[in-house]
Amino acid sequence: MGEMLTPHQRVMVVVAHPDDMEFGAGGTVARLVREGKEVVLVQCTSGDKGTSRRDISPETLARQREEEEREACRILGVREVVFLRLPDGELEPDLAFRERIVRQIRSFRPDIVITHDPFRPYALHPDHRAVGITTIDAVYPTARDPLYFPHHLAEGLEPHKVAELWLFGAQYPDVYVDISETLDIKIAALVAHRSQISDPAELAERVRERAAEVGAERGIAYAEAFKVIALRR
Ligand SMILES: [Zn+2]
Repeated sequence: MGEMLTPHQRVMVVVAHPDDMEFGAGGTVARLVREGKEVVLVQCTSGDKGTSRRDISPETLARQREEEEREACRILGVREVVFLRLPDGELEPDLAFRERIVRQIRSFRPDIVITHDPFRPYALHPDHRAVGITTIDAVYPTARDPLYFPHHLAEGLEPHKVAELWLFGAQYPDVYVDISETLDIKIAALVAHRSQISDPAELAERVRERAAEVGAERGIAYAEAFKVIALRR
């Protein structure tokens, strides 16, 4: 596998919907796990509107998708998944949402936070935009400084400084991760989302093609790309 992706140990992924992590960063997460990193996932919604069916309730769909996400996390080696169970499609970048993310950051204390790039122009799911911007704002300055949400202190949640933000789905990525050895794990984790897939072979082909396209920008067989922001600690 060559050199390590990062010297940091603790990684938190924050995404809007089940399967967002796998599409955006599944190969990278599998690599980080292989390198012995501890990875946890914060799942903001359980994707309760993610269907074209009318004969399924949001509650039933959410339960099914949480099971699919747990299976995907087992495949990737993600240690823990936290379900915030906020309503799918209705996330707003407000202070109440930010408090939920800050709480997770102050609890798990990650070195790296991976999330959606909220700045990609035009077609962007509103939940992806809301999660990206709220997570960035949660990392800096909110989780870092003790006078934000001071009730956390009373609960034993100390302020925390994150070292790096990694944004997937970026218009202008600057870090390309070679996922050639973990692409099959990424695909297996995506196939675990059975409620979202009609043709697993077609999905595998599409994911392989996309990873090849991204990799071609840097002469890598298969890659995922990120905009990485280093924060002053
Ligand atoms: Zn999504």
